[in-house]
Amino acid sequence: MSQPDPQPALPFLPFALPEIGDEEIAEVVSALKSGWVTTGPKTAQFERDFAAFLGAGGGSGDLHCIAVNSATAGLHLALEAVGVGPGDEVITTTHTFTATAEVARYLGADVRLVDIDPATLNIDPAAVEAAITPRTKAILPVHYAGLAADMPAILAIARRHGLKVVEDAAHALPTTRGGRLVGTLASDATVFSFYANKTITTGEGGMLVTRDAALAQRAKVMRLHGMSRDAFDRFTATVPSWYYEIVAPGFKYNLTDIAAALGIHQLRRLPGFQQQRERLAAAYDAALAGLPLVRPPRAAAGDTHAWHLYVVRLADGAGVERDRFIERLYAAGIGCSVHYIPLHLHPYWRDRYALTPAMFPHSQHAYERMLSLPLYTRMTEADVARVADAVRAALR
Ligand SMILES: *Cc1c(COP(=O)(O)O)cnc(C)c1O
Repeated sequence: MSQPDPQPALPFLPFALPEIGDEEIAEVVSALKSGWVTTGPKTAQFERDFAAFLGAGGGSGDLHCIAVNSATAGLHLALEAVGVGPGDEVITTTHTFTATAEVARYLGADVRLVDIDPATLNIDPAAVEAAITPRTKAILPVHYAGLAADMPAILAIARRHGLKVVEDAAHALPTTRGGRLVGTLASDATVFSFYANKTITTGEGGMLVTRDAALAQRAKVMRLHGMSRDAFDRFTATVPSWYYEIVAPGFKYNLTDIAAALGIHQLRRLPGFQQQRERLAAAYDAALAGLPLVRPPRAAAGDTHAWHLYVVRLADGAGVERDRFIERLYAAGIGCSVHYIPLHLHPYWRDRYALTPAMFPHSQHAYERMLSLPLYTRMTEADVARVADAVRAALR
């Protein structure tokens, strides 16, 4: 007679999962039943709510929030609106997702990739300054994992050299630097992502934020085909009008009301989501203390880390290679990932700009040792303990 399995295998713990509640679902249903499924009243509300959220977080002045169907779209619109074009150069970090850099190429500009600060894994301001040429038009910092980049230094460099700054804040909702929310700092534009695994999600989506009214107007027009008035404006104006003018060959980057319906409620839950991520990160820190791992850097006292990712690096002498380590975690039922394979290693970027790992020693060193452990709001502290046990076993 076979014995019952004394310890049934635990279910696979995924790397990331969204948290969608009844309010989101009811709002989506309301959008579907309303007859207005594309960009309309729910998108307008999401934009207003987003501006209010950032404004309440220490921002001042008018924030323009422009909802788009991805952060990639928002970054493209932001670079277009600040005037990046053929012959220009945009400086960004090699330690990012390709979307950060590809948008400069859409516009015919070249990308100058630079190395990171090994302590924070964020773009190194000294490397930014060293990469400036007469062709440089903009700096594109990324707030890696949800920890703010050194914005005071980057903004000072931009001012000294007359450069634009567009922040890739795909990981940075909500993140503060010097007590102020990313999105309200003195850059030209900031772009957030609502992709499925980000800190809030609309399935796919993004938000371009700027204080510059002219930039906002350009991004709004280019978001929808270069039309002088969008459909919602035209059909809800006091004098409805079928008339519009095409002022540029724009894009199709508008967010749908179905997606915005999710965003309205995800945004309301964001403070609670952030606290849960913070709790889980603290639980990881405690559970992993003493192991041969470099744990993630913390935000400065008084500042907020969005904790989009919990990234650890194997210490020298950990006794296991990163790839083997990830295999062991998968075998123990733990999903993990690597953020990122640096751009200088991808064939397109490597070959276009003749890049070698030796040009990016800190990013390369971190990449070879790093992995991202599961971190999402539906995890429990028991899940963290389970991951930590698996990490401890995988290190033996
Ligand atoms: C997710 C991500 C993006 C792209 O976001 P989408 O909304 O999927 O377009 C850009 N940059 C970074 C750093 C990201 O992590």
